[in-house]
Amino acid sequence: MIVLGIETSCDESAAAVVAATSSGPKILSNLIHSQIAEHLPYGGIVPEIAARAHLDHLHPLISRALSEAGIGLREVDGIAAAAGPGLIGGLIVGSMTAKGLAWAARKAFLGVNHLEAHALTIRLTDSVQFPYLLLLVSGGHCQLLVCAGVGRYIRLGTTLDDAVGEAFDKAAKLIGLGYPGGPAIEEAARNGDHNRFALPRPMKGRPGCDFSFSGLKTAVRQIIMVGGGLDPRGRADLAASVELAICDALADRTANAVDWFRRKYPEGDALVVAGGVAANKRLRERLMKLATDAGLRFAAPPSPLCTDNGAMIAWTGIERLRLGLIDSLDAPLRPRWPLDPGAPPRSGAGVKA
Ligand code: AMP
Ligand code: MG
Repeated sequence: MIVLGIETSCDESAAAVVAATSSGPKILSNLIHSQIAEHLPYGGIVPEIAARAHLDHLHPLISRALSEAGIGLREVDGIAAAAGPGLIGGLIVGSMTAKGLAWAARKAFLGVNHLEAHALTIRLTDSVQFPYLLLLVSGGHCQLLVCAGVGRYIRLGTTLDDAVGEAFDKAAKLIGLGYPGGPAIEEAARNGDHNRFALPRPMKGRPGCDFSFSGLKTAVRQIIMVGGGLDPRGRADLAASVELAICDALADRTANAVDWFRRKYPEGDALVVAGGVAANKRLRERLMKLATDAGLRFAAPPSPLCTDNGAMIAWTGIERLRLGLIDSLDAPLRPRWPLDPGAPPRSGAGVKA
C-alpha cells in the first residue's frame, strides 16, 4: 500500500510518499519547504502569507516527492492531506490539491487530522502497539492522551492557556533569540546556567494532567525588565532556566498521567512524545527517565519527524486506508478538530482545544 501525504496546516509545505511493505513501513520520499524566512520579518506566522506560500511551493514539492519515490500517481493507493486543525488558508490549498489529484487519478482521498498524524508517527518509526500514552507538544497544542486505536483518543489533560511551543517561542522573543524559539532556546541554553533564575513551574504538584504556561512568560518579562536588559551571559542563563522550568512542568504533569495510565491500561507498555517540542533533547531525557522508572518503554520519533512533515500525513493515510476509512471529496475542512471531542471542556482565559 502506497500513500502520498500533503501537509499545509501551518508554515511548512510538505509532500511525502510512504509505503506499507511486508517488512514494515518505508518512507520513499519526504520533502519539506519551511516558510521560516517568509515569516521572519514579522516575528511569527502570518496566515495570509502562509497560504500564498503553500500555493507557490506545493505543486513542485508533490512532483519531486513522486519522482524521488520513483513512482507516478497511478501507483499510489491513496492521497492524504491534513484537513485540520490549522490555518484555514493552508488547509484549503493542501486539501483541494489532494482532492483534485484523487479525483483525476481515481484514488482514495484521506482527510487527515494533523494531531492524529503526530500521534501515529511513532507507529511509522517504531513498532509501538495500542494503547500507549502520548505527550503531544507542539506550537499549537500541549496535551496528554491515551492512544487507544486509530481514531480513538482519550484526552487526560490539556493546556489552560498557551501551548508549550508558544511558551518557548514567546520566551525566546522576549530574550531576543529570534524565531522559532524552541530550537533557539535549546541552542542558547547549552552554555547557560539552568538554575540561575527562579522561574515558576505552573501547575506543579497539583492533581490532574492540565498545563499552564502563561505565568512563565510573565516571569521572563519581569526578570528582563527588573534587570534592565540582558547581557549575552544573562541571555544564555535565562534561556537555560526557561528550558528547565518547561521540562519540569511537563515532567510533573506527565508523571500524573503515567500513574493513571498504568492503573487503567496495565497492558499498555509505552510513553510516547510527539510534536515539534519533542525535538528538545533535555525533554527527551526527562521523559526517558520517567518512563523507565515506571517500567514503561520510552519512544520518540527522530527529530525531523517530530516537526510538521508530509510523511506523518501519508502514514496516517495508510493507517486509515487499511481500516477502510476513506473520505468523500466533499469532506469538510476543520480549523478546530479535537482528537477527543468527548473530553470535558476546560475553563481558562486562553483555552484553545
Ligand atoms: P509544530 O507545531 O509541531 O510544527 O512544532 C513547532 C514548535 O516546536 C515551535 O513552537 C518550536 O519553537 C518548537 N520546537 C521546535 N524544536 C524545538 C526544540 N528543539 N526545543 C523546544 N521546542 C522546539
Ligand atoms: Mg504540528
